[in-house]
Amino acid sequence: MLKFNAPITTDVLVVGGGIGGLCAAIASVREGAKTLVAEKSDTRRSGSGATGNDHFACYYPKQHGNDIGVILKELRQSLVGAYHDEKLSLRFLEESLHVADLWHEWGINMKPFGDDYEFMGHAYPGRPRIWLKYDGHNQKQVLTRQARKEGVEILNHHPVVDLVVADGEIAGALALMLFVIVVLISMVLPELIKLWGLNVQTDAEAKKNFALQSGR
Ligand SMILES: Cc1cc2nc3c(=O)[nH]c(=O)nc-3n(C[C@H](O)[C@H](O)[C@H](O)COP(=O)(O)OP(=O)(O)OC[C@H]3O[C@@H](n4cnc5c(N)ncnc54)[C@H](O)[C@@H]3O)c2cc1C
Repeated sequence: MLKFNAPITTDVLVVGGGIGGLCAAIASVREGAKTLVAEKSDTRRSGSGATGNDHFACYYPKQHGNDIGVILKELRQSLVGAYHDEKLSLRFLEESLHVADLWHEWGINMKPFGDDYEFMGHAYPGRPRIWLKYDGHNQKQVLTRQARKEGVEILNHHPVVDLVVADGEIAGALALMLFVIVVLISMVLPELIKLWGLNVQTDAEAKKNFALQSGR
């Protein structure tokens, strides 16, 4: 039978600690709200930004001039832009330089080529370059560290499985606590793999096999 822990109370609950969730949590805690992130995996390496990103949609007047509308149009004509809400995209662009400055200050290298931001890639010839090229390999670790530093509480391995509704409004959420399961799986899985007789290669073995197969 499932055991229920005592409820945790917070002002703001962020479900999922991806890039969006962590940034929202930092903004929330900066407004003075007690903020909790419930993440099903581990925010240091979860979600689509887990392994790092390298370009960041950004409006930089020094590079793009004073008409943000031109950059908004370019963003909306990009691969992802057409599906986004126009007002939100504009808001995103208005904040983007400030966020780039913050990320750089926190430890994500937004200026890998020198003292200023560089824009490159993902543009048709002659069209404005809207993608700030950055080194985001550590972005999830940095955002996690910064969120904790600013007072956000992060509960990793807590998938939210249901919402609690009171008087027609969302009043909370129900999450599983996966810690025990994760530890058990990491202890038991290697033994099970051996038992099942699966052929799991080490990195060195894989390189050797690749060399043999490719004749190198
Ligand atoms: C390989 C790759 C390269 C990319 N490169 C770029 C790039 O260079 N530039 C760019 O702008 N974009 C890039 N993207 C897209 C970008 O990474 C995503 O748009 C961005 O990371 C989305 O962040 P998010 O916080 O909105 O969502 P997600 O990253 O999906 O985060 C959602 C989080 O919620 C957690 N979660 C989900 N369900 C639950 C639940 N029930 N309970 C608790 N937690 C839950 C997940 O574990 C995850 O941590 C790339 C994507 C990929 C995959």
